Amino acid sequence: MKSKNLADLPGGAAQFIDLADFDRETLSRRLVELEDIRMRTEDQAADAVAVAEELYIARQEAEKAKKRADDSASTVKAILEALAEGVVVIKPDWRIETVNPAAKALICLDGRRASGERLPDLIELAAPMAFPDIPSDMGEVAGIDGSVRRGDGRHIPIEMSMREFRTAAGQRFAVVLSDVGERKEAEKTILELALNDALTGLANRNLFHRRLEDALTISERSGKPVALMYLDLDKFKDINDTYGHPIGDGLLIEVAERLTEATRKTDTVARLGGDEFAIVATEVENRETISILAARIIEGLSEPMTIDATLLKTGTSIGISFYPEDASDADELIRLADLALYGAKSAGRGTFQLYDENLQSEIHKNQVIENDMKIGLVRGEFEVHYQPIVDSVTERPVAAEALVRWRHPTHGLLPPLDFIPIAEERGLIGLIGKQVLNVACAQNKAWQDSGAAPIRVAVNISPHQFLSDDLIDDVAEALESSRLASEWLEIEITESMVILDLETVRGRLNRLHDLGVQLSIDDFGTGFCSLLQLKQFPIDRLKIDRAFIQDVAGDGDSAAISKSVLDLGRSMGLEVVAEGVETEDQISFLRANDCPHFQGFAFGKPCPGDAFLEWLEETNVA
Ligand code: C2E
Ligand code: MG
Ligand code: MG
Repeated sequence: MKSKNLADLPGGAAQFIDLADFDRETLSRRLVELEDIRMRTEDQAADAVAVAEELYIARQEAEKAKKRADDSASTVKAILEALAEGVVVIKPDWRIETVNPAAKALICLDGRRASGERLPDLIELAAPMAFPDIPSDMGEVAGIDGSVRRGDGRHIPIEMSMREFRTAAGQRFAVVLSDVGERKEAEKTILELALNDALTGLANRNLFHRRLEDALTISERSGKPVALMYLDLDKFKDINDTYGHPIGDGLLIEVAERLTEATRKTDTVARLGGDEFAIVATEVENRETISILAARIIEGLSEPMTIDATLLKTGTSIGISFYPEDASDADELIRLADLALYGAKSAGRGTFQLYDENLQSEIHKNQVIENDMKIGLVRGEFEVHYQPIVDSVTERPVAAEALVRWRHPTHGLLPPLDFIPIAEERGLIGLIGKQVLNVACAQNKAWQDSGAAPIRVAVNISPHQFLSDDLIDDVAEALESSRLASEWLEIEITESMVILDLETVRGRLNRLHDLGVQLSIDDFGTGFCSLLQLKQFPIDRLKIDRAFIQDVAGDGDSAAISKSVLDLGRSMGLEVVAEGVETEDQISFLRANDCPHFQGFAFGKPCPGDAFLEWLEETNVA
């Protein structure tokens, strides 16, 4: 052991030592002890420093960790706040611990606090969660559908996913809530577009096919027939062309409403495109019930409608086929309903036709007529006959109505009603009408040139022809090429045309009037022409329909109607012609009521131009 001097003793140690009391040995022992103490103290101090250093480092580490944790917590918070998705943290008993702002906006109605509430109490789940506590092995679940009911009663569809995580406080679930309202809306729109007609909301062709197939399957089980009705609107193209698409669309919407109203909830009303509609009627009692429905629909659609302050009148033709009676599958059923529709249209519009086997040959016949008509037009088989219109007092002719006839090579002389509807349907009426116009003007000029007292020639104009852009030019051309003065030409339009299309009709009539042509309304009393409309037209004459004249001497209604047309004519300064005058009774009734002009078999049947001239000359001489 190394000896030490007293002076070497660490400072302060000397105070413990009373040198006088110790011998050398004791002193040495004490020195050794002191040295020991010194060394231990030094070691302890070093330890203390080391511990302090470690503590310092640990504290710094902890601070760094805390800062890091704070940083990531605020990052997470910022993310949660910015997230469009709602995030809710819930405990296993579904109670909410925290919500982010998006979740709050979604589920906290009227600003109420969410924390502490049970999530299923705030959200209506499509399939309610059966368990009161979320099972610990739940893990991650996605695609849970639900909705939140808003204060205004609106349901906002949401989609929910849950993911388990652990915190120091125990098991938690992060629930992500997505507002899928817009997406659902888009999905719905896509689905509707695929199955519904965007304009009318009716079933479209896709859905129609599906429903028809379903109806046939049900019918197989129930044994009750299915009826398929095919409809298309009369004059729709004209309305669309004249008034423009917005009005045409409005009309289609109105038609869709009327069809839906007329049918049962279990029936499918579909728009197949354009102005074509179809109805699948299930559990049909019999043909009679469907016929009644068809008649009701025709009646309903022929009622005038007001679209955007425009008064319009349309109508429909309906073709009907039955399952299983007529066809054994959907395609055949459709084909036959379409054929029946074709038959209905050929029979004159505004009717319905049930499919039957003869229809096929009927349609074939119409096809043949159409072809024959085209050939006939080229060969000049269409003739014009003339029927006199006479003064009711003098019985002298004032006009001749030009009435077309078809001298068919095999069927003989055909009256207009046998081919005019088909010509209208097949777009040939314009060509026929133009021929009649030219022939009639030329004929009248020829009568005049032969010295007969001048009379008017009245030409019937069909709706298609009247609405065609060529009409005015055609009339002007006929007058020019025949050199007939325009005052001797009269144009007859039917009352139903006036309703179709007020503006165009007025425009056309004004232009014809400007040409100096006379204008009359044919078959008056059968349509829907209001006094107000009548006043807006430069009309010269009304022709009372034959249907009223026929019963004028007996039936109270016909007499009353005829009288009121005569009164109307007088008060509006219009001439009136009674059509179809045949008997003495009719003549005396009409004379007693001051009817100024007569047309009818009593005064002359329609005859060819040269025969008419002979009659004209005789009458003039008489
Ligand atoms: P509408 O214009 O009302 O012509 C009068 C029709 O009544 C004619 O029939 C005429 O023959 C018939 N009629 C006249 N008086 C009597 C009578 O006393 N008794 C009977 N039972 N009938 C009488 P039609 O010639 O068969 O013409 C029928 C319809 O065909 C015409 O009715 C007219 O709407 C249409 N039509 C005739 N020619 C043409 C034409 O060139 N173009 C167009 N678009 N339609 C025409
Ligand atoms: Mg006429
Ligand atoms: Mg008439």
